[in-house]
Amino acid sequence: MPVARILFPLPLPEPFDYAVPPGLDVQAGSYVSAPLGKHERLGVVLELLPDSAGEGRTLKEVAAVYPTPPMSSAMRDFILWAARYTVSHPGHVLGMALRSRGGLSPSPTETVYEATDAAPARITEARTKLLEASRRLGPQSASVLSEAAGVSAGVVKGLADAGALRARSVATDLPFDPPDPDRKGAVLTAEQAEAADALKQSVAAGAFATFLIDGVTGSGKTEVYFEAIAEALRADPDSQILVLLPEIALTQAILSRFEARFGATPAPWHSGLSDRERRRTWREVANGRARIVIGARSALFLPFLKLKLIIIDEEHDGSYKQEDGVTYHARDMAVMRAKLEDAIVVLASATPALETVVNAETGRYQRLQLSARPGASRLPDVDLVDLRKAPPERNHWLSPHLIHAMQETLAAGEQTLLFLNRRGYAPLVICKSCGERLKTPGTENWLTEHRYTGRLVCHVTGYSIPKPKTCPQCGAADSLMGVGPGVERVAEEVRVLMPEARIEIFSSDTAQGGEATRGIVDRMERGEIDVLIGTQIVAKGHNFPNLTLVGVVDADSGMKGGDLRAGERTYQLLSQVAGRAGRAERPGRALVQTYAPDNPAMMALADNNRDGFLQIERDVRAELGLPPFGRLAAMILSAPSAQMVDEAAQDIIRNAPNGEGIEVFGPAPAPITVLRGRHRRRFLVKSPKNIDLSAYMAAWTARLKLPNPVRMSVDIDPYSFL
Ligand code: ADP
Repeated sequence: MPVARILFPLPLPEPFDYAVPPGLDVQAGSYVSAPLGKHERLGVVLELLPDSAGEGRTLKEVAAVYPTPPMSSAMRDFILWAARYTVSHPGHVLGMALRSRGGLSPSPTETVYEATDAAPARITEARTKLLEASRRLGPQSASVLSEAAGVSAGVVKGLADAGALRARSVATDLPFDPPDPDRKGAVLTAEQAEAADALKQSVAAGAFATFLIDGVTGSGKTEVYFEAIAEALRADPDSQILVLLPEIALTQAILSRFEARFGATPAPWHSGLSDRERRRTWREVANGRARIVIGARSALFLPFLKLKLIIIDEEHDGSYKQEDGVTYHARDMAVMRAKLEDAIVVLASATPALETVVNAETGRYQRLQLSARPGASRLPDVDLVDLRKAPPERNHWLSPHLIHAMQETLAAGEQTLLFLNRRGYAPLVICKSCGERLKTPGTENWLTEHRYTGRLVCHVTGYSIPKPKTCPQCGAADSLMGVGPGVERVAEEVRVLMPEARIEIFSSDTAQGGEATRGIVDRMERGEIDVLIGTQIVAKGHNFPNLTLVGVVDADSGMKGGDLRAGERTYQLLSQVAGRAGRAERPGRALVQTYAPDNPAMMALADNNRDGFLQIERDVRAELGLPPFGRLAAMILSAPSAQMVDEAAQDIIRNAPNGEGIEVFGPAPAPITVLRGRHRRRFLVKSPKNIDLSAYMAAWTARLKLPNPVRMSVDIDPYSFL
C-alpha cells in the first residue's frame, strides 16, 4: 500500500504517515480524514510515498477522502515555508488554510417552492396571499414565503400537496458569477496606460514578478490594477486573482467598483463573514471556481488552485501585519507565495513602506509611477499650523486658523473633515481631588472616557466600566475629569462654534459593521454632513467630492512611543488623510496642527516631499542597521507573576545561541507590562541582513524548556513594539 504523509492542522512538530487502503483515491494534496488519538481528524496529504516506505511498519489507514480537489503543491510548499519563516508549527499554518470545514463538502441543499400553473381546488385568503408572495419572490424556502405572506408555514405544505406549489431541492451556497474582463473600464491617461501595459505584459508572460504602483492618492492605481486583473482573467480560464485590502470598511466602496468593471461581485474573505459566507468562499476558491477574491490579510492563506495575480492595495498599511498566533506580514508573505505559484504581485500605495521603496530601488520590484490625478482633480495644499505660535483656547483643540478655515468652508457650502486618531471623549481620566489617573486594574493602561455610552474603556484590553460617580481612590464626588481630546470632545467643540453645521463622528464606535459605515459614507457623499470628525477609519479609500478642507487636530500624537516606524507611519497616515481633500473639481487644502513643525515628517508633508523624507528615514535606519538594512525579531514572554516571568527570562537568556553579528537586547518589560493578568517581558534580536534570523530563533526556542504557565511567542519582523 502507498503511504500518505499527512499534516494535521494542530500544533504538532511533524506530519504522520498512514497507509492508503485500496479503493481510496488519495493523491498528494488530498484533504483526508485519518485516525489520530481517539478521533478521526481532517488533514492534508503533504506527499505520497511509494509502497516501500510502508514496509515493515504498522501504519494506521487513511479513513476517507474529501471531494475537494487536492491542495496545489505550491500551496503546500507555501505552508511549510511560512511555518519555517515565522518559527511556527506547520500545522498551525495549515490551520489558517482550513478556516472553513463546511467548505470541504458540497453545498448543503434546501427545499424551495415555486408556484405552478395549477390552481388549488380550494382557495382561502391565506392561500391567495401565499401564492401572490410566491409569484413576487420566485423560488423560496417555506419560511421565507410564509413570512413574506404573513401566514403560517402549514399553508405552503397545503398548497404543495394540492399541486399549486412545486418543491425543488437547491444548493444553498451558489457559485460566484464569473467576472467579465471585457466590459469597458475607464479611458486611461497616457501615464496610467503605460503602467497598465507593463502589468499586462508581465501577466501574459506568466512568470513571477513584483511591481509597485507608486501613485499619489487619487491617481488611478485601482483603475490600473483592474487592467492587470482583466488580463489575468483573459490569459487563462482557470486563473485566480487575489486582491488584499487593509480595511473591511473599505471593501464596501470597492466592491461596487469591481461590480461595475467586471459585472460580478468578487468572492469576499474577512473576519466579518457569516459561517455560510465563509464556507461558500472557501469552497469556491478550493475548487478553483472563484476567479477574483477580495479580502483581508488572512485571504493569503486560502487554498487557491491556480493563483496567478495578487494585488496588495495600500501595501504600507499596518493592518497587513498579523500580531496574534502565527505572526506574519501579509505583504512579505504574498511575495513569497507569488514566487512559489509563478504569479505576479502588484503592490499599490501613495506612501509605500521604506522596505518597498528600497526593494524598488534595488530592482527587486519594478516601479510604475503615477504622478498626477486624472482630469481637473489636483492634490491638496498642505499647511502646517504652528500651535506654539497660535494655540487653541485653554481646554479647546482647534486653533483660530483652523476654525476660520472651517467657517469659510461651511459658508462656501463645502465639507470639512477633522482627523483625530483617538476614539471616545478623552484619552485619560483623572481625579481633580487626589490626582489619581484611572487605569485598568493590574495594568498601566489608562481608561478612555466615552461620553455617548457613559463608560470608561480600555482600548488595549477591552476592560470597561460605567463612569463612577466618585473617585475609586479617594472617594471624592464628581471629581473625575477627562483630560485631552478624543473625537467626541472635538465634536462638542465644533457644535458650540458652528451650531448650524451638521456634524457626525466616524470611528469604530459609531460605525460598527458594514451598514453603519456605508450610512456615514453615503451621507457624506450626498453632502448631508458639513463636518465629519473621524479616526483613521476615514483615512483611506473614500472619495468625497465636496470635501475641500481636511484639518488634522493633533499631528504629533503618532510620533510618541519611540517605535522605529513612528515617523514613517505618521507621514503615511497624514498624507492619506490630507489626500481626502479636493478629489473632484474643487481644489482642496489640509491644515495640520502641530507643536513640532520642524519635525522631518511634518516638513515633508508641507512640502509634499515624500522622497526627501524617505531619504532621511533610510539614512537613520541604515546607520543603525534596522530594517530594511538589517533584521529584527522579538520574543515575548508572559507568566501570571512578575517573579515567574523574570526567572524564565533569565533561563532564556542563558540559552541564547551565539551567532555572528547577532545582538540580543533584553529582557525588558514590554511596553504593555501586564496584559490580561499576565506579566510580559520581551527580547529584541537584531542581525545583519544576510543572516537567517528565523533559523536562529528556531534553534533558540528548541533549547528551551519553559515551566507550564510561562508562554513564549516569536515575532519575526516585529512592527508593534507593545
Ligand atoms: P487611487 O487608487 O490611486 O487612489 P482611484 O483608482 O481610486 O485612485 O481613482 C480615483 C478616482 O479617479 C476614482 O473615482 C476613479 O474612478 C477616477 N479615475 C481614475 N482614473 C480615471 C480615468 N482614466 N478616467 C476617469 N476617471 C478616472
